Amino acid sequence: MTPRLLCHPQGFDLPADLPTRVLGLLEEMDLLGTAFPVDGEVRYLTGPGFLDHVGFLGCAPDIPLEAPSRPEARARDARLGRFCHWRLTPLYPAPRLRMDPLAAPRCPACTRAVARPRLRPDGQVHCPACGMVSPAPDWRWKQLGACARFFLELLGIHTGEAVPGEALLAGLEGITGCRWGFAYVREAEPLPCDPCG
Ligand SMILES: [Zn+2]
Repeated sequence: MTPRLLCHPQGFDLPADLPTRVLGLLEEMDLLGTAFPVDGEVRYLTGPGFLDHVGFLGCAPDIPLEAPSRPEARARDARLGRFCHWRLTPLYPAPRLRMDPLAAPRCPACTRAVARPRLRPDGQVHCPACGMVSPAPDWRWKQLGACARFFLELLGIHTGEAVPGEALLAGLEGITGCRWGFAYVREAEPLPCDPCG
């Protein structure tokens, strides 16, 4: 399982060129390092501004920022999240729900916890306890799940280890005109194949 911090817009009405604009913002803030390929997609090492704009919650950050120089070793370690790096998803046509295996969000109607609920095609989540359906963002995820059309991922970050800084969030919110949230999920690599991406 690969640990990651997911930053995501909380609104669904988003500019079509969002991934490009997010990449531009990361570049502007000196957050992007060298680009490298993993399984046919481009990922990015962290740049010199990284420690200014991502807050670490422990003491001195213990997170490897260096990648192996051999391409095969780098791709393998990237899949496992053994060093910290960026991945941007495409802008999906419909919201996607991503969550940690331990996610048990609370239903907004009855407040009971439901283990790994499923997203219905209409963007709602059904509560088996009370029978209500509610929009996925209304559930209380406790930062172990997120429903969004785009994700800016920081791989190699475990739950609660780091948070996006205020300037980064403000920059992202400036692009989309909506609030951004973040969550921590562990997911298997490679990710399930993505027919829209
Ligand atoms: Zn319920």
